[in-house]
Amino acid sequence: MFNERVSNDIFVFTSEMYAQVTAGVILTTEGAIIVDTLPFPRETQVIVEFVQRRSPYGARYVINTHYHADHTYGNYLFPEAEIVAHGACRKALLRDGERRLEEAKEQNPELDDVRLRAPAVVFERGQMVLHLGGKTVQLIHTPGHSSDCIVVYVKEDKVLFGGDTVMPVPFIVDGDWRDMIASLRLIQELPLENIVQGHGEVLLRGEIPRALASSISYLQTIYKHVRRHVEAGLPRSDLRKLDIEKCGKSRIPLNGLVQDLHWANLAYLYNVLMAEKAAKSG
Ligand SMILES: [Zn+2]
Repeated sequence: MFNERVSNDIFVFTSEMYAQVTAGVILTTEGAIIVDTLPFPRETQVIVEFVQRRSPYGARYVINTHYHADHTYGNYLFPEAEIVAHGACRKALLRDGERRLEEAKEQNPELDDVRLRAPAVVFERGQMVLHLGGKTVQLIHTPGHSSDCIVVYVKEDKVLFGGDTVMPVPFIVDGDWRDMIASLRLIQELPLENIVQGHGEVLLRGEIPRALASSISYLQTIYKHVRRHVEAGLPRSDLRKLDIEKCGKSRIPLNGLVQDLHWANLAYLYNVLMAEKAAKSG
């Protein structure tokens, strides 16, 4: 696992086992705030030990940016902390979490010890603020990747944990592309030194404006192309001509995984727009 310091009190841990997913630690004088936990206990355990070494008051809060397994399966390794998230995150975990976890355990013995722990402190709309040890931590609802997504803004450090609202390529198959654009525009308004992406590298101040703008234009581009495709009655397989670079994004990040995300986005939009078309003509 890769560990880096983003500001005096903020650390990021990047998985080497799953899609460069990230988790963060905010150290305060009254204990640590953890932002997301990693899917494999072996890696989250490294964060547990880091917090034990660096925070005399331990972990006070674990914030989940959304309900997906790669951001929540390590929650149980912080039994002393309160889990905080959007209300829809709690609902999703209580609804399907156990079933999905059982399926995941069958696929991967590394997950044997994982126990589901759903957030107990939730908010339903807009934002909530945590004040701890001199840090002001804003949790802002940013749907798009999924309906429960939030970002976590540490005001004193101007550091944003973007969760999967900020990734090298936006990924919308469990969400909504219009919501995603609105959420990215909201992030554009924040004064920022760094964005910790849900997957991949930490963005530096100078990189942020272009990264956000190119994600918005990527979403507009794929929508425009897929809509034209659907209107012309072309088959889904024809979308293969529209590679990621034609949509303004690099094919390299996340060891090339971004290309799979891109194809999945196109297929998802195609299905949504076909269903809309069928509903109109029916
Ligand atoms: Zn993720």
